[in-house]
Amino acid sequence: MKYDYAVIGACKAGLTAVETLRERAPEASILLINGEDRLPYKRTQLTKKLASGFSPDDFSLKDEGWYSDNSIELWNNTRVLEIDKEKHELICSDGRTAVWGKLLIATGAIPFQVDIPGREFVKHLRSAADTEILRAELLSCRRVAVIGQGVEGVEIAEQCRKMGLEVHLTGRDSRLMQRWLNQRLSGKLLSLFKSEGVHCSFSRDVSNITKEGDHYRVHSPGEVLEVDIVLASTGIRGNPALAEALGIYGKKGIACDTSLQTRIQDIYAAGDAVEVPSGWPRGLWHWAEYQGRTAGMNMSGESQKIENIPTRLKCEPFGKFYFSMALPDVNEDDKSTVFFDDKRGYLKIFEREGRSVAALMEGLSKDDSKILEKGIHQGMPAESLASSFI
Ligand SMILES: Cc1cc2nc3c(=O)[nH]c(=O)nc-3n(C[C@H](O)[C@H](O)[C@H](O)COP(=O)(O)OP(=O)(O)OC[C@H]3O[C@@H](n4cnc5c(N)ncnc54)[C@H](O)[C@@H]3O)c2cc1C
Repeated sequence: MKYDYAVIGACKAGLTAVETLRERAPEASILLINGEDRLPYKRTQLTKKLASGFSPDDFSLKDEGWYSDNSIELWNNTRVLEIDKEKHELICSDGRTAVWGKLLIATGAIPFQVDIPGREFVKHLRSAADTEILRAELLSCRRVAVIGQGVEGVEIAEQCRKMGLEVHLTGRDSRLMQRWLNQRLSGKLLSLFKSEGVHCSFSRDVSNITKEGDHYRVHSPGEVLEVDIVLASTGIRGNPALAEALGIYGKKGIACDTSLQTRIQDIYAAGDAVEVPSGWPRGLWHWAEYQGRTAGMNMSGESQKIENIPTRLKCEPFGKFYFSMALPDVNEDDKSTVFFDDKRGYLKIFEREGRSVAALMEGLSKDDSKILEKGIHQGMPAESLASSFI
C-alpha cells in the first residue's frame, strides 16, 4: 500500500499531526500506526486512574468511527520494526508493509532507568497495558517504594496510598515536584502527603536494590526500605528504536531542526520522541500536541518553527488542585507577588515589564487555572489578573 503520509505512534503528537494533515490535505491518503492494543488514548490518565482501574476505551481520544469518517487508515496493535529511507518503505511486526511519501516518527519516550545494581526489579508505568498489569500486582502487595519525587512519582504514590498500601516516596530531589513548585508549595504538598500517611524521604540517591525472598530492599545512604514492589519515575528519554537504526538519534531523543524535520529528507519527528534544546520543556501532553500540530503543518508544505512556549502543569493529589505555569522561565529580575496564602489556597504571579509571565496556584479550581493561563498568554498585569480571584 502507498500513502502520501504515514505516522508512526498514535498518541497526542501522532494523532494531532494526523488531524492537522487531514485539515490541510483533504484528499491525501494517511496511515496511522498504533503500537498499542486499544484505540489511541489519553496517557496522562494512567497515573490518575491506577487506584480505580479503567476499561480499554475509557480514555480514547477519538471513537473508532472518527478514523473511518476522516479516511484515516488506522493499523492497531502493530509496531513498525524497520524503515527503509531509500525506498520510503516501512515494515510492521504483523508483516504489513507500506510505502510513504512523508513520514512522521512520533514514538514517544521510554523511561530513564537508574543505573544501579538491582535495576531489573524496578517497574515503570508508560502504557495502559503496563498499568493494568501493575495494578493487578499492586492489589496483592502491602508496601511499595516509589522512586522519583516529580509529578508522576507524586501521582503514583497518591494512587498507591488510595489503594491502601504503605507508601514510601523517595529519591534524589530535596523536595516534592521541585521543577514545578516553589519551596512554599512543595512544603504544603508534603504536609498533605504526610497527613494522608505517605512516608516521604528526600535527597537520597538509591544505591542498590536487593531481592530478599518475596520482597525487596531499597538501599540509600541512611535508609533501607523493605517493600513488596518498587516503582520508579526518574525521567524519560526519546524512544531510540527506529531512530538509532536511521542514524538520527541524538543524546536524549531524535535530532531535528526547529521545523521538526530530521536530516533525512521527508522524515519528521514530534512529541516526547524529539530531542529539544536544553531548558526547553518535554514530557508534557500539550507540548506533544504543539509539536504534532507543527509537524503536520510542515509535512503539508507550510513553514512553521517550534519555540520555547510557556508550559503548564496541573495535578490534583488527594483532591487538592495544584497549577504551575512557566516557572522554569522566571528570571531573578522578575517581580513576584503572593496575592494570598491562606484558607482559600495560594496564588503567586510573576511579572516582567508590567506583564504576567508565570504563576503558581494551589487550592482553587481548574476553571480558575484556565483564567490564569489565558491572562499569562495575554500578558495581563499581575494586579488585574489576580483581581479575578480575590
Ligand atoms: C503515566 C504518565 C502520566 C503522565 N501525566 C502527565 C500529566 O499529568 N500532564 C502532562 O502534561 N503530561 C503527562 N504525561 C506525559 C504525556 O503523557 C506525554 O508527554 C505525551 O503522551 C507524549 O505524547 P507522544 O505522542 O509524543 O508520545 P506517547 O504518548 O509516548 O505515544 C507514543 C506512542 O508510540 C507508540 N510506538 C512506539 N514505538 C512504536 C513503533 N515502533 N511502532 C508503532 N508505535 C510505536 C507507543 O506505543 C505509544 O503509543 C504523563 C505520561 C505518563 C507516562
